[in-house]
Amino acid sequence: ANFTELGLIAPLLARLTELEYQQPTPIQAQAIPSVLAGRDLIAGANTGSGKTATFALPLLQQLSQQQDTAPRSNRTGQAGNDVSGLILVPTRELAQQVADSIRSYAVHFNGRIKTVAVFGGVSANPQMQALRGGSDILVATPGRLLDLISSNAIKLDRVNTLVLDEADRMLSLGFSDEISALLALMPNKKQTLLFSATFPEQVRALTQSLLNEPVEIQL
Ligand code: AMP
Repeated sequence: ANFTELGLIAPLLARLTELEYQQPTPIQAQAIPSVLAGRDLIAGANTGSGKTATFALPLLQQLSQQQDTAPRSNRTGQAGNDVSGLILVPTRELAQQVADSIRSYAVHFNGRIKTVAVFGGVSANPQMQALRGGSDILVATPGRLLDLISSNAIKLDRVNTLVLDEADRMLSLGFSDEISALLALMPNKKQTLLFSATFPEQVRALTQSLLNEPVEIQL
């Protein structure tokens, strides 16, 4: 398959050509059509598999199509501090890397999609500034995100799409309680995508409670 056959739109296809992505990786070929169709997903995927693009490209496509009818500034008003696509990651490094990838894939949306990354270990103030007016996509580590919610810098009641990236690492780093607290703040009705290299009991329990008739991909 090629990227056009997966159902991606022109601004994304143009970018993939510029990045010299010749063809989808196996996880991209298997998952992108289902994710575009709104299905939940559970995928066994390591770093290097192309998992970031697997969730980032459909998320950008869905957001750009929503914006064609209602830009974020119209939907939420000036004071809106909400987010549509939320990506939870275990570490600061991964948060920055994922946000950079998303911004790169989004260049042909001409700044219409705002991506913010928040993570611990640095001052919260610049992150609070960046969140003013809300964001379309937020990439976050769980602890810092909870802190920012407590400060009213962001709220999760309009999350449409939730991605758990490297779920096994998030749980092994002890983020289980934070993830539960965050899930309780999101709408029940949303699309959820879970990526994990391994599937220990803790991850399987999370997928059971969280995912609704997911497409399963094990590479
Ligand atoms: P990831 O597994 O998401 O960390 O991606 C690993 C690397 O592969 C990143 O540097 C991506 O830019 C690159 N990549 C992702 N998908 C493709 C593709 N279809 N063709 C070539 N490179 C890709």
